[in-house]
Amino acid sequence: MTSKTIKCFRCVDGKNLMVKNGKTKSGNQRYICKICHKTKVATYIYKAWNQDVNQNIIEFTKEGLGIRSTARILEISTTTLLKRIITIAKGFISLLSVKEKRMK
Ligand SMILES: [Zn+2]
Repeated sequence: MTSKTIKCFRCVDGKNLMVKNGKTKSGNQRYICKICHKTKVATYIYKAWNQDVNQNIIEFTKEGLGIRSTARILEISTTTLLKRIITIAKGFISLLSVKEKRMK
């Protein structure tokens, strides 16, 4: 038996351990955080749900990769990629507006 510990990615300190919470349709182990009740699967079949996808999109865009090549490398669809880019951009805009309010 493997004792793989998975930490909660949502809780701020990231120290809360997630516990087993049944299995998905495809038989992968699902985990749940006891504090914030956020669930997570160790390895997603649908690649867009993986945690590092958004960070990879930012890195590839900085490197100058196009939409289709980024989508091909990350194995997600171009539509999903475009939606993610908009979501990421909206996050930056809201961050900037918070900083501007603090400056005033
Ligand atoms: Zn949590």
